[in-house]
Amino acid sequence: MREGRKKKGPEVIGLPDFWDALSRHERKLLALDYDGTLAPFCVQRMQAYPYPGISRTLEHISRRADTALAIVSGRPLAEVLILTGSFNGIVIGSHGMEKRLSSGDIVIKTADHAQRQGLACAQSVAEDNGLGDLIELKPASVALHTRGLDPEEAARLEDRAVRVWRAISERHGLEVRRFNGGVEVRATGWNKGDALEELRRGMPPGSACVYIGDDDTDEDAFLRIRTSGYGIRVGDAGRPTAARGFLPGIPAVRDFLEAWADLNVPAREESVSWIRDG
Ligand SMILES: [Mg+2]
Repeated sequence: MREGRKKKGPEVIGLPDFWDALSRHERKLLALDYDGTLAPFCVQRMQAYPYPGISRTLEHISRRADTALAIVSGRPLAEVLILTGSFNGIVIGSHGMEKRLSSGDIVIKTADHAQRQGLACAQSVAEDNGLGDLIELKPASVALHTRGLDPEEAARLEDRAVRVWRAISERHGLEVRRFNGGVEVRATGWNKGDALEELRRGMPPGSACVYIGDDDTDEDAFLRIRTSGYGIRVGDAGRPTAARGFLPGIPAVRDFLEAWADLNVPAREESVSWIRDG
């Protein structure tokens, strides 16, 4: 248990009573996006490690008896596991297609036959359009990464990918979604909102559900808990979002997590056992 330092949590813009409201819930689910939320963006994607102090704080939170903690990313699960190192909580990758449970078991959903055919076609078309060096193949998606490019060039390439992938997506059960640093064509039927809902179903009734993310793909999660939880978007408070709260940047997320780790509830050595995995 952490002793001594107890500080009031940072202001969550738009949710002035957040910390008081949170303290009224005996059980809590805290789900966190990775890039742009826990880790600063980096052109070298495998150098995007958590912001200083965040790994240690996640470790503290993961020991709390009142909190189920999960990282929910669009990255492949294997990448998140490498970048988060010793984090032993639930990790969801590929927008929910892959999951590492708190038991350590890994569960993978697969795209259907038509979707796999469409993704192979999307890869081929991207290569034919000169985008091959910028694409990443993921378990249920193909992503075009433009971080680090000249902004005009990035926009031009993203628009080209959207154009060629849209025609494919309509025929194969795929969807084209932009994200911070690129655009992706991916299997429909599973997104971060669905992944969050699955986590929430494993919680006792009345549990608080908090989701923090920075990107358009996080909007599915914000929308899912719009009236029943606390969606918090990282970044400019003026942008349109289904989130009800804002934190201005990753340092504020770090402060938020530190305050959560210090919430006045007894901690124990083991992770929570009442969330149903799978
Ligand atoms: Mg993000």
